[in-house]
Amino acid sequence: MDGVPLVVALVIALAGVAVAAYERRASLEARRASSALDRSAQDLREQVQALDEERRAMDAVLSSMEEGIVLVGPDGRVRLANAATGRHLGTVPALLAGVLPLGLQETVRRTAAERRGQAVEVETGAPSRWLRGATIPVGEDGSVLLVLRDVTASKRLEHIRRDFVANASHELKTPAASIRATAETIRTAAADDPSVIPRFAEQLDREAVRLSRIVSDLLDLSRLETGSDLDERVSLDAVLREEGERVEEEAAEAGVELSIRAGPAPRVRGSARDLSLLIRNLVDNAIRYTKPGGRVHVSIDAGDGEVVLTVTDTGVGIPTRDLPRIFERFYRVDRARSRETGGTGLGLSIVKHVVENHGGSVGVTSELGRGTTFLVRLPAEPRT
Ligand code: ADP
Repeated sequence: MDGVPLVVALVIALAGVAVAAYERRASLEARRASSALDRSAQDLREQVQALDEERRAMDAVLSSMEEGIVLVGPDGRVRLANAATGRHLGTVPALLAGVLPLGLQETVRRTAAERRGQAVEVETGAPSRWLRGATIPVGEDGSVLLVLRDVTASKRLEHIRRDFVANASHELKTPAASIRATAETIRTAAADDPSVIPRFAEQLDREAVRLSRIVSDLLDLSRLETGSDLDERVSLDAVLREEGERVEEEAAEAGVELSIRAGPAPRVRGSARDLSLLIRNLVDNAIRYTKPGGRVHVSIDAGDGEVVLTVTDTGVGIPTRDLPRIFERFYRVDRARSRETGGTGLGLSIVKHVVENHGGSVGVTSELGRGTTFLVRLPAEPRT
């Protein structure tokens, strides 16, 4: 080899070495870069996965909530609404205006303007329902979070409670007023004509008995509302026999013929005290709403896995339109007759509670002027 090509060869060899070194470095860097890229891709995937899981958890929480959750943007558009919102409003709204009841729209706007949470109650829909809304301003842009709860059931209960307190007060006031008036009459009579005093004293006694009967029925009812103790095995025919003597006397006084047939029947799991209240109220009613000369028949039979109590009378009967309401507290078809015969208007309500507490059912059939039949079915305790 001559001199020049040797130099060239050297340069080429050196260049080859340099290129190889460069290639090695480049490939190292490329590998580093690629593994860094892999790592960031992995990080990103994990972050997306975490976000996805968070979003899914959030969706699950939102969709399982009973409360409607609505996020309203500053432009009045609904940015987020969960499933309950649809149930409460009948539809999932896209805009604040339009679908949301006016009271709610107004409250959301006021919350955005005043930057403080508010509460509101609105009546909406048909059949009407009550919604309670609470608003919270979120972020700085004037967005508002609205939380909606359906409070129809508690409103209804509140209404029933208020009615009940008003009715009970009225029922208690009537005999109390009568007692005061009679006491006043006795005071005057003591000076003018003492011979009338025994008559007024009797009236005083009657009203006092009436007052204590109302209080005792109210106490029974409030106890029954929290349930019955179901820890006894009760023989209904034995309960009926115990009540028998008392009601026989009552029937004789009212001139009503009473017949009782209590055959052997399975026992019932429940409370003897409450089941005796049930029988007493039904038989008392049958006697009280039957004219002298009429008949009342009470029977207990074994049914298919149940015990059936039937109380039939040949009394005044109940108009068909009143039948659906007679189990309501203080509901009476004939107020005067109920009062006259010492009724409190609570007897059938007590009956209904006892039956329900024992897992049974009560039905009534009646023909005006001909008579009424109450039929109670109670689950029989399996024989052991
Ligand atoms: P009350 O103390 O007035 O009898 P209840 O709750 O026992 O109250 O009964 C509600 C209403 O149902 C009574 O006022 C009466 O009008 C009617 N009623 C109940 N039982 C009978 C019956 N056997 N025959 C006719 N009417 C009845």
